[in-house]
Amino acid sequence: LRNGMDLKRLVRTIPDYPKPGIMFRDLTTLFADPAGLRAAVDEIVWPFFKAKAQIDIIIGIEARGFILGGAVAHELGRGFVPIRKKGKLPHKTIGQDYSLEYGVDTIEIHADAIKPGDRVLLIDDLIATGGTAVAAAELIHRSGGEIVAAAFIIDLPDLGGTARLRDKGIAVHTLMEFE
Ligand code: IMP
Repeated sequence: LRNGMDLKRLVRTIPDYPKPGIMFRDLTTLFADPAGLRAAVDEIVWPFFKAKAQIDIIIGIEARGFILGGAVAHELGRGFVPIRKKGKLPHKTIGQDYSLEYGVDTIEIHADAIKPGDRVLLIDDLIATGGTAVAAAELIHRSGGEIVAAAFIIDLPDLGGTARLRDKGIAVHTLMEFE
């Protein structure tokens, strides 16, 4: 990182969570560290800071995308819109199904949250297979929004999510990788 801080050191790895064989990358330790949180937000925002006139809205994915996305929205001087798991948003929503390893899940956005032509910066804490981010991108496109970029603290490149987004023409910004 430009300030020389080793952000990766602040990520805690929990073996066999939530299932045997999974190495869970736990960002709560990074978020709890004052210098770590600031550095992570600054590094996520950095490529967009000069071009912030090109971003209308920040969209974060439940739940850790809210922590990061709220701070990014504040730093860029833009508003924040949540994408949530099914059934959590109070007003009229549109939903998008996506496949998990076993079964399907649904995420939703308020139907009136994005104005046609809004230019969106999409935020989550981590991208793995990209299933969640691709579904979020689908919701944004169906709402009439344009995705300027998607940004994540952690990329698990072996799972192919960033490649999937780039194949769809979405610019991707990540801060670190884990196997
Ligand atoms: P994907 O849909 O396979 O890309 O998985 C990404 C989503 O699952 C994001 O919303 C992440 O917060 C969550 N996720 C998957 N693996 C991890 C992990 O190791 N640590 C934290 N979150 C994870």
